[in-house]
Amino acid sequence: MGRVITLAVTIVLAVVVIIGAAGAGIASLLFGGTAGTGGLCAATVTAPNATPAGLTAEQTSNAAAIVAVGARMRVPVRGWVIAVATARQESGLISLSSGDRDSVGLFQQRPSQGWGTPAQLLDPDYAATRFYEALLRVPDWQTLPLTEAAQAVQGSAYPDAYADDEQPATAIVTAYTGGTLPGCDPVAVSASGWVRPVPGPVVSGFRTSSRPGHDGIDIGAPRHTLIRAASAGVVVTVLCNVAGRSYTPTGGTLPCDVDGNPQIGGCGWYVQIRHPGQPTGDVVTRYCHMVRQPAVTVGQTVTAGQPIGLVGSSGNSSGPHLHFEVHSGYPATEANAIEPAGFLRYRGVSI
Ligand SMILES: [Zn+2]
Repeated sequence: MGRVITLAVTIVLAVVVIIGAAGAGIASLLFGGTAGTGGLCAATVTAPNATPAGLTAEQTSNAAAIVAVGARMRVPVRGWVIAVATARQESGLISLSSGDRDSVGLFQQRPSQGWGTPAQLLDPDYAATRFYEALLRVPDWQTLPLTEAAQAVQGSAYPDAYADDEQPATAIVTAYTGGTLPGCDPVAVSASGWVRPVPGPVVSGFRTSSRPGHDGIDIGAPRHTLIRAASAGVVVTVLCNVAGRSYTPTGGTLPCDVDGNPQIGGCGWYVQIRHPGQPTGDVVTRYCHMVRQPAVTVGQTVTAGQPIGLVGSSGNSSGPHLHFEVHSGYPATEANAIEPAGFLRYRGVSI
């Protein structure tokens, strides 16, 4: 994959988001957990009396209860976001005494389905506990898109309804964790705030003699390997780019939801992140060929190492890998593409 259609870049020009010090404290956090054990890397509630923007006192009380239970159960912070998003969608963060059929409480859990008695389910602490218990039993819940993780717990008739709640839920949880959303995975962040986006060997280099138009590196990794934001920044592009056309996410099936091949052009499902304030100015990173719609949205602030999607083979690709680009300016263009492996090594990331 060489370059993305210019139209894609034009669209993102309209997005200007300034981030502050988000992620500045991440460099000191080295998480000791291992994949699959989750609970070892739980975040802490640093501002239990926070008042997230836009919430009433009642909603705030319930949100605080959800994150407090998550912290107590040592659920990784991604689970807190999923829980808050689910409660926001199901009940508006109000402990409702009734709902569809026999649904009750913050998460609209049903006594007839074994969640507890109506009285128990009206208790936010109890309801959140039962939600997290169910979430932790979902295989790979930390790497699923929020909609799929929530659906696996809730069995909702409208799983895509949760998608709108991810960003507000992230903002709410962030209010309780000191202004940043800690990464919660065993990923080493370098002192300058960079991580390796996926593990795996570099199987194709930057602008090699045999591929002079290859503006990035290819990192070989199995399908569904977690792709992480290489550093803190703001998502500026989420598109399906294939065969000369770009499509914005719709929640429905797009041409990037299947494997591509070397005969068609395009980055497939891809994300670009703008990293303002690097010593030499803005940097943009690009992540191509994801297996399905990325887990982030345009305008979203991400931390170093935050999961953004899963390895796939969409677009111009002969097999699962991450095509990773680094650009020394915004917007990303062919002219400002630079060699990614050396860029990362210079910032303390072994690759
Ligand atoms: Zn490539």
